[in-house]
Amino acid sequence: MATVGAQPAVARDPQQGQSELQSLAARHLWLHFTRMGANEDNEVPIIVKGDGCYVWDDQGKRYLDGLSALFCVNAGHGRENYAKAAYDQMTELAFFTNWSAAHPTAIRLAAKIAELAPGDLNRVFFTSGGSEAVDSSLKLVRQYHKLAGRPNKTKTISRITSYHGTTMGALSITGITDARTPFEPLVPGGCHVPTPNLYRMPEGWTPEYYAEAVRERILFEGPDTVAAFYAEPVQNSGGCFVPPDSYFPRIREICDEFDVVMVSDEVICSWGRLGEWFGCQRLGYQPDIITTAKGLTSSYAPMGAVIVSDKLVAPFAEQDKMFSHGITFGGHPMAAAVALENIATFEREDLCGNVRAHEGAFREMLESLYDLPIVGDVRGLGYFMAIELVKDKATKEEFSEAECDDLLRGFLSHELMDRGLICRADDRDQPVVQLSPPLIAGPQQFEEMEAILRPTLAEAGRRMGL
Ligand code: PMP
Repeated sequence: MATVGAQPAVARDPQQGQSELQSLAARHLWLHFTRMGANEDNEVPIIVKGDGCYVWDDQGKRYLDGLSALFCVNAGHGRENYAKAAYDQMTELAFFTNWSAAHPTAIRLAAKIAELAPGDLNRVFFTSGGSEAVDSSLKLVRQYHKLAGRPNKTKTISRITSYHGTTMGALSITGITDARTPFEPLVPGGCHVPTPNLYRMPEGWTPEYYAEAVRERILFEGPDTVAAFYAEPVQNSGGCFVPPDSYFPRIREICDEFDVVMVSDEVICSWGRLGEWFGCQRLGYQPDIITTAKGLTSSYAPMGAVIVSDKLVAPFAEQDKMFSHGITFGGHPMAAAVALENIATFEREDLCGNVRAHEGAFREMLESLYDLPIVGDVRGLGYFMAIELVKDKATKEEFSEAECDDLLRGFLSHELMDRGLICRADDRDQPVVQLSPPLIAGPQQFEEMEAILRPTLAEAGRRMGL
């Protein structure tokens, strides 16, 4: 299914006229991944306040934020200690760079991240967000191989339907055709292999084949041309695909065999989303690089990071060498102060522990929806779950593109929002509803989710003739 971006727009009541904010938004604000034509008949949700797992719009309506905004407000909304940390930092030192200089907050944050990250991931390069982290990692990997005497290693292997960001480097790694084609030609060398999809595994394949497909692609491209393999621990796009247990250990072996850098893109899957600091810890593998953003500050401030192994840093540490790359706001003091406060909050409240304590109940609630004819598959890990919607449960028959459009954009996106639940209805592969609540969520929020999901999905099924 082809459409990128199914952000909800609320149908406008023609009697009511538009608020000033709505008309200013319609005239001036360019929404990301949102059909612009939709603005004429629909109103964009304007969110004005947040507290814990809930947000309110400009009409005073309350929503359960079942998506942590965009998989990112991990610690929940409305925490004053984060604002205090930002205030204290800005009044002490509002800004200084990490170009040939440093400031204490970035230093302490880098050290803290290195302490939490697994193995020898000891060096941290800060960015302003996720796409910049992925783009920076791509440049780092290319220069690393050049310094190590392997100048032809420039290609990347990632997965079909994966999302790794929108800047040109990150987009060449992204595997979503509709996100790529308007901007081609992209950075050369972006190769793609199938994502482990155990629900729709092609006949004759085994779960083990998905990793072997990476090896085959490396051999096909020529091992001396392949620089890096990129994957999320649990892939967001297409709906929270969890790989078979053998996948990442085997990928690790394959990367070692061919000197391919293994990058774990954890822009979503780190900072407790899967119940551990980092997703690779939950899935039991050791990457050479972790890219992260979003939950690093629980999105109270924009910040990303590339966390790099000692092995990759070594050739840069020689006398006259440097990573020829920099970003003004990388390691911004205010964002770094907020990130440190965020990590301290995680430790104080054991937010990773809360996810592990309640993830079973979260999954059970979603699995209880299996009695609905439209619910085909429930999958995911931690507080990162998806429901795949099907036309026929027994045969796994897919909806057509037009049906999908009607189901998601014609009904589900705004209906769930109207009933007070923020989640994501998306069809970058098959249609899915994704849920990724703040890590403080528990049984009460799961109950509220079910009370909205059950009647809405039942109605969606009836609407699609099931
Ligand atoms: N990688 C992954 C896995 C992501 O999910 C995202 C954002 N959703 C990005 C990269 C890009 O991050 P950003 O939107 O902060 O640029």
